[in-house]
Amino acid sequence: MDIFKFGGASAKDAAGVKNIANIIRDYKKGNLLVVVSAMGNITNKLEELTYAYLAQNDEAHAMFEEIKDFHFSIINELFVGNANTLYDDVANTFVEIDWLIEDEPDNNADYIYDQIVSIGEVISTKIIAAWLNETGNKALWVDARNYIQTDNSYREGKVDWDKTSQIIQKDLAPLLNQNIIVTQGFIGGTSENYTTTLGREGSDYSAAIFASCLNADALTIWKDVPGVLNADPKWFDETEMIPQLSYHDAIELTYYGATVIHPKTIKPLQNKGIPLFVRSFIQPQGVGTAITKNNNPLPVPSFIFKVNQALISIFPKDYSFIIEENLSAIFELFHRHKIKINTMLNSAISFSVSVDDHPKQIENLIIALSSEYTIKYNKGLELVTIRYYNQKTIDRVTVNKDILLEVKSRHTCQMVMKNKNQFDSSL
Ligand code: ASP
Ligand code: MG
Repeated sequence: MDIFKFGGASAKDAAGVKNIANIIRDYKKGNLLVVVSAMGNITNKLEELTYAYLAQNDEAHAMFEEIKDFHFSIINELFVGNANTLYDDVANTFVEIDWLIEDEPDNNADYIYDQIVSIGEVISTKIIAAWLNETGNKALWVDARNYIQTDNSYREGKVDWDKTSQIIQKDLAPLLNQNIIVTQGFIGGTSENYTTTLGREGSDYSAAIFASCLNADALTIWKDVPGVLNADPKWFDETEMIPQLSYHDAIELTYYGATVIHPKTIKPLQNKGIPLFVRSFIQPQGVGTAITKNNNPLPVPSFIFKVNQALISIFPKDYSFIIEENLSAIFELFHRHKIKINTMLNSAISFSVSVDDHPKQIENLIIALSSEYTIKYNKGLELVTIRYYNQKTIDRVTVNKDILLEVKSRHTCQMVMKNKNQFDSSL
C-alpha cells in the first residue's frame, strides 16, 4: 500500500481538486491512503481569524465569512449546485467555529487556536473525498483525530506512537482494502477527544506517521516543484533537481531549513526503511526525487537560505569561561523562551548564536540573560548553509557580503552574513 500527501498549494481551487483526483485515479498499484492539508492558504486565514477572535476584534466575523465563501465557491464550481449532502456536511463543520466565536474567549489561547485552525483540514478532505466519489473513485473520509493520538500540548501535539500505531493497525488498516482513504494532515486528538495540531506545515509529518504505522511501501509527497532541488528557486536562478537523496542528507537539509519537506518527516520513514518520493503535481509523469537508505552523497552542493536572522553574542560579565555549566544555563533559557538556535559558535568568553528574529521573544531572553551576561546583537542578517561545500560555492554566495560568523564541519558550512553596505544595526 502507498501513502500520498497533497499540500495546500495542490488544493487551492477547483482545478487543483480535479488534478488531485486525476493523480489518484492513475494510481493502479494497490491500496492507497491520501493525506491532505487545508486548501490554499486557508491555515493562515484561520490563524488570522483566531487572533482576531482572541483580541475580540469585530473583523473576526467578516474573516470567517470569507473563509466559508472560499470553500463554498469551490464546491459550487466542482459540483455545479449538485452537492446537497456535502454542502450540509461542510456547513455543519463550520458551525463548530460559529459556536466557539459566539462567546468571549475564556480558554487557553493555544487550545482555541487548535479547535479553529484544524477545521481547514477537516473541510478540505470532505470536499476531496466527495469529489473522488463523484468521479467514480470509491473514497472514504476518515477523521485523523481518531487515529493520530497526541498529548494536550496544543499547537505542538506530541504523538503517542504506541497508541497511534495500535489504533491505526487495528481499526484503519482493514478499511483500506475496500476504499481509498482520505484523511487530514496536521491534526490529531487527545485522549479526551480534543483537537490538537502538530505544528505548522505538519501534514508531511502526519503522512509519515500513517506510513510508518501501516508499514506502507512508500510515501509520495506531491509538490509544486519537480522534486527536491539543490536550492530554493526563490533565491537562486539556477537550481538542479536531486534524483536520489539519502535519509541522512534529507534530514540534514530539512533541519537547516530546506522547506520542501517538514523536518520531522524523515525519522519515522528511516526507522522503517520506507522510501519517500517527492514529485510534482503539476507534472505527475516526472520521476521526482527518491529519498531512501542509499548512502550516496548529494551529487551537487545544496544551498539553504534563512533571512531575517539575529546574531546574538553572549559574554559573561565576570569574564568566566563559557563552559558546560553556564552553557547549560544559557540553553535552558533559550528553550524556555522557545527560541530555536540555527547555528552557534563559542570561544573562551563568548557564545554566539543565529536565530530567527522574533523581537518579543528575543527581548525577553535578553532580559533574562542580562543579569549575568553582556549581550550584543545584530539584526537583518542572512544565514546560508551549504551542504557539501567547496571554495567555489562559498565564493558564489559571499559576493558583496561581510561574514559575521562561520561554522564548518566536514560536509556543512554555515555563514551568517550581512550586505557590505548594510546599515549596522548592532547593539
Ligand atoms: N495546513 C497546515 C499549514 O499550513 C499544515 C500543512 O500544510 O502541512 O501549516
Ligand atoms: Mg499548508
